[in-house]
Amino acid sequence: VKQNGRNDALLYSESWSNYSFEHLSLQHEMYRAIQRKEFILYYQPQYDMISGGMIGVEALVRWKHPIRGMIPPGDFIPLAEESGMIVQIGDWVLEEACRQNKCWQESGLPPMPVSVNLSIRQFVQHDLASKVADVLTRTGLDSQYLDLEITESMTMDVNHVSRCLLDLTALGVGISIDDFGTGYSSFHYLKNFPIDRLKIDRSFVRDIQQDPSDAEIVAAIIAMAHNLNIQVIAEGVETQEQIEFLRKHNCDEMQGYFWSAPVPSDNIEQMLGGYYM
Ligand code: C2E
Ligand code: CA
Ligand code: CA
Ligand code: CA
Repeated sequence: VKQNGRNDALLYSESWSNYSFEHLSLQHEMYRAIQRKEFILYYQPQYDMISGGMIGVEALVRWKHPIRGMIPPGDFIPLAEESGMIVQIGDWVLEEACRQNKCWQESGLPPMPVSVNLSIRQFVQHDLASKVADVLTRTGLDSQYLDLEITESMTMDVNHVSRCLLDLTALGVGISIDDFGTGYSSFHYLKNFPIDRLKIDRSFVRDIQQDPSDAEIVAAIIAMAHNLNIQVIAEGVETQEQIEFLRKHNCDEMQGYFWSAPVPSDNIEQMLGGYYM
């Protein structure tokens, strides 16, 4: 028994130190990854619930690591948030998404907004709105074609959030609440902040068919949002049954593997180009 205990402890400490070594080396490499242009954006299309037409894309970052291969955001965004690097990565994502969207428009593709995920760390910067304004000016993208996705968080100071969202709204960019239902969903939040759209979290959409309470929650979120004049997009839509449920409950937009996983910009060009064929 004693022996086992020792082995367990040893195993534990070994894997723990490997873990922290991984941490440190990834964090170190992240600093150089921006200069080395190792980050790339994939885009996932968003569709109108009624017409089925593409109405926007969400930009999702990937790290094309020279040795480790493609690293998904779940494996480095939390680290980047811990170290503060998320601000630099996020700046790059914002600029690249706007640049790409402007480029699509200039090549004659039908214009539509690009959604960019913001981390809390970026959101609490006092100069976020002027940063966004600068990026729009630099890239020449009209503000109506940028949507910012933020997540609810208890740690955010209400006055700050309010001021920040008003500044961003004044620029003309859209504001979406991401992962709605998983965080600190305060109705006060929805009522008092200028929110254009909320995204129903994938975890609710996933079980719409199996779990009656998830179905109730989704229906209630849509009804409530509409009463507050807020649009609703469902994320993680994978089946025809989910679409039927969402359509029946007047969800406005949808996004998910049913149509497309996130894809490189070239694929989006082909999809958008298809609208003329
Ligand atoms: P998210 O913002 O909730 O993005 C949606 C995630 O769900 C994406 O994962 C997408 O690939 C995945 N997804 C979309 N449709 C489906 C579906 O039908 N089924 C399933 N099972 N999954 C689906 P991804 O690209 O791995 O991104 C994970 C998370 O990383 C994002 O979640 C977001 O929180 C974060 N992230 C990604 N890019 C950025 C970024 O540029 N900045 C920040 N701050 N966070 C980012
Ligand atoms: Ca998102
Ligand atoms: Ca989401
Ligand atoms: Ca999510």
